[in-house]
Amino acid sequence: MVAGVWLAVLAAGAAAETTVLRAARLFDGTGGEVLSPATVIVEGERIAAVGRSLPVPEGARVIELGDATLTPGLIDLHTHLTDRFGVHWEEALLTTTPPEAALWGARNARDTLMAGFTTCRDMGPTWPYVDVELRDAIEAGAVPGPRLLVAGNYVSSTGGAGDARQFSIYVDVPIVRNLADGPDEIVKAVRTHLKQGADFVKILATGAVLSKGIPPGSQQYSDEEIRAAVVEADRWGRQVAAHAHGAEGIKAAIRAGVRTVDHGSYLDDEAVEMLRGSGTYYVPTLYTSEIIETSEHVPASQKERERQVREVQDAGFRRALAAGIPIGMGSDAAVIPHGENARELGARVRLGESPAAALASATRVNAEILGLESSIGTIEPGKLADLAAFAGDPLSDITALERPVLVMKGGVVYRSER
Ligand SMILES: [Zn+2]
Repeated sequence: MVAGVWLAVLAAGAAAETTVLRAARLFDGTGGEVLSPATVIVEGERIAAVGRSLPVPEGARVIELGDATLTPGLIDLHTHLTDRFGVHWEEALLTTTPPEAALWGARNARDTLMAGFTTCRDMGPTWPYVDVELRDAIEAGAVPGPRLLVAGNYVSSTGGAGDARQFSIYVDVPIVRNLADGPDEIVKAVRTHLKQGADFVKILATGAVLSKGIPPGSQQYSDEEIRAAVVEADRWGRQVAAHAHGAEGIKAAIRAGVRTVDHGSYLDDEAVEMLRGSGTYYVPTLYTSEIIETSEHVPASQKERERQVREVQDAGFRRALAAGIPIGMGSDAAVIPHGENARELGARVRLGESPAAALASATRVNAEILGLESSIGTIEPGKLADLAAFAGDPLSDITALERPVLVMKGGVVYRSER
């Protein structure tokens, strides 16, 4: 399978060839009806035409997908591609190297692309800036993977989530340098990460489940500190993504004007109303709970943190659903196995979201959150040909998204099982 994929990539080259995709159904992400049957014509890296049945241009390659559903390439706003599933980041800091993270990152990126995810926002590596190198290697065609927007490094407070110096006082990992306390240090951290190639800024507004120190429910940065990150990132024309579990941290992040509140576990009614029309989006990560419970590498104290968060986070998601606010999609892959990103959508449908809304979240809504809606997120003529196809119909069975049969990124076929 993988060797076949590579041959396909090599054969595609840079030629502006025409590919015709035909499937039983097409979900274009625009909110319109499902097209059935459907034909998509791809010329070079872009979508040329979409219709029920279109004439095949001369010399075009035709891929018959049969009983499958074409969708826009899926987008995940919360991955950690250079982190290995099954290795806790604290252990990784003490026992692994940046090159190891880069090599596993290449493998994880490939697995994620083959699962139908053609764009990911990577929320930060254990070893700083390895994600920048991974993004560039993918763009240069050295390794297959999704389009990446990367955080480069975390912005975290002393004693907070992601503090890389929470071992014995005699053990240090100076290379990580992800701690910033007070607005001045935060501005310096933001500038440093953007200078080193980050596409956006990841700040930890509250404690975390998979961390020591301040609890997930507690705000770890002051309003003033989060605001400092947003103001500086804005000068660079970049977004800020805030890791936030606790309600006060969520609200501080919304007030500061971050683009996304990730996890958003203790989302309450006031936070939901603050989100409405604010330009800040909620990106829950719900499937992680099922995995953390059964993960042998997670310490008991952190499983206990997870148990406390789980019930409230499901209730927070239902609250956002009932309010009808737009919801982004993120899986926190690395906490869950890479390539199983679509299971997040299954978890959401089990909590009451419609499959069409879940799919729209992972495509059009996520593209809008990233500000990339003019090029990706829907299947429309003129957009980049980022497409996926899944066996069956994800609109009646969301688990169909776990059965990809085709993945195309920028007009290049990376996976084709038809
Ligand atoms: Zn994360």
